[in-house]
Amino acid sequence: MERTLTGISASPGIAIGSVRLLLWEVPDVPHAIIPDDAVDAEIARFHAARAEARQRLDQVRRRVEERAGATEAAIFEVQQMLLDDPTMLEEVESLIRHNVGAAQAFHQHMADWRQRYSRATDSYLRERVGDILDLEIRMLSVLLGLQDHDPLDIPSGQRVILVSHDLTPSLTVQLERSSITAIATDVGTRTSHVAILARSLGIPAVVGLRDATERLRGGELVILDGSAGTLNVNPTDEELALYRDRERLEAERAVDLAQLATADAVSTDGVEVVLLANVDVPEEAERAARSGARGVGLMRTEFLVLGRAQMPDEEEQYRAYRRVVEAFAGQPVMIRTFDIGGDKLPVGGFPQEANPFLGWRAIRMCLDQPELFKVQLRALIRAAVHGNVKILLPLIVSPSEVSDTVALLSESAAELEAIGVPHRDDVPLGVMVETPAAAVIADRLAPLVSFFSVGTNDLVQYTLAVDRGNVNLASRFTPMHPSVLRLIRRVVEVGISHGVEVAVCGEMASHPLTAYTLVGLGIRELSVAPRSVPVIKSLILGICVSRAEAAVRQALEVDTAAEAEEILRASLIAEVGDAGLLE
Ligand code: PEP
Ligand code: MG
Repeated sequence: MERTLTGISASPGIAIGSVRLLLWEVPDVPHAIIPDDAVDAEIARFHAARAEARQRLDQVRRRVEERAGATEAAIFEVQQMLLDDPTMLEEVESLIRHNVGAAQAFHQHMADWRQRYSRATDSYLRERVGDILDLEIRMLSVLLGLQDHDPLDIPSGQRVILVSHDLTPSLTVQLERSSITAIATDVGTRTSHVAILARSLGIPAVVGLRDATERLRGGELVILDGSAGTLNVNPTDEELALYRDRERLEAERAVDLAQLATADAVSTDGVEVVLLANVDVPEEAERAARSGARGVGLMRTEFLVLGRAQMPDEEEQYRAYRRVVEAFAGQPVMIRTFDIGGDKLPVGGFPQEANPFLGWRAIRMCLDQPELFKVQLRALIRAAVHGNVKILLPLIVSPSEVSDTVALLSESAAELEAIGVPHRDDVPLGVMVETPAAAVIADRLAPLVSFFSVGTNDLVQYTLAVDRGNVNLASRFTPMHPSVLRLIRRVVEVGISHGVEVAVCGEMASHPLTAYTLVGLGIRELSVAPRSVPVIKSLILGICVSRAEAAVRQALEVDTAAEAEEILRASLIAEVGDAGLLE
């Protein structure tokens, strides 16, 4: 086997540790014929497995309850009820009596259930397919003794490098995060939600490894290099020594960079660039505030929903937003309304779509369900009482989406007013510019909003027609494509002429070369992963903005992303040397 597996860098940092494979999928179930005299023992084994699965579900329920509350944990009760279903018990026992092994008998029954439930006309029943699947995997992992099929088998206190095919929202809620030092997945790209989550949590990650779960067996010692996007399996002593050195240097650099926390990011020619943090998980707010960010440029609220069966209620949302707002005492906090859809799907209850990224997502879904949307709007204007909240709308393509939201905002304010709940009715509104449509009609959107935030992850995807989550297209996902640069430039120009602030909160802002490009395009506010705040700050302190602008003027005139990148790279290296490219 090749010793170095190469994927896509998703979250920087180095981790050295042992592999914990997590195969959350229905395993192959061998056909086992049970002799007559072993039938009773096999039935007993089946019930013992049920008892063990129940105990594990209890554990999951407690963990989820602590993190997300009792309502959310209730989904695991459904699985416990399924474990006691009398028809299931009768059928499985009867199959075992006909000499079918317990695993095979249970698997047959569950496959039948899955098929029937997925065809049900009642949406509640259809949504149970996920529960059935989870329960099937959990029971089979017990019956077949497959440790790598259960996230609960990762003991807390152990520091492992988690390798899985994908990290779905339903798995994410079950994981003991404190045991995971790094993440590696077969699928995904830099902008897929697992990558975003890893960056938010400050955990090194490599995605898009394609077949790491097939090549690894679990337990191997590996070096995960989140910046290079590699997984080095069974490293030699020299490699280990090299990486330990790098780890040490990175730690030293982090200490140096942390000293910049209080400094302003001002270029050598006196231009200030405001650095904000992307905060996706409320628990990260305090850490993000210490990074030296001057506020939050993007809070992705959908992470409150991922992995859950129900939307969080107004009170829970209010508390989550308030936590972030208070952590950033008085500094601006741009909270984005739910961007559910694309690759950020809640558990169950979401329609299957052929093209989710072009589908019923984000503002479309919210405006189509005003009651659900107003719960969030009310929570937001209530949290605004505690600080400087700005509301950010995702995936805007038309001015009417903004005016419809404004109408719902005033209804929400009136509802709170009527019951005497403190709130603000002057919360500034902004839009994500993340579709070519929004960039092209930025002049029509500008009069309706007080700020623009360019979402380069989607803007690149939609402009170049390259799926941001498709690992086979990763090399074609080129943020430096002149078409993208021109669209961003247009937004900056509209912002200047209409007095509307323009920030960038997509991935481009978090990496030195692309951040340099954005500054050259005229962007003066960058919102980046908390870990990147000091890195980008040190970049800004070392560059001359007028030189970046000159390089960008040339880049806007070339034909390809590669040429544009070359021009900007040369300019950046001429200013600060190769070190300027370090993340
Ligand atoms: C973007 O599209 O650039 C963005 C910041 O939003 P998300 O990555 O959540 O789609
Ligand atoms: Mg987006």
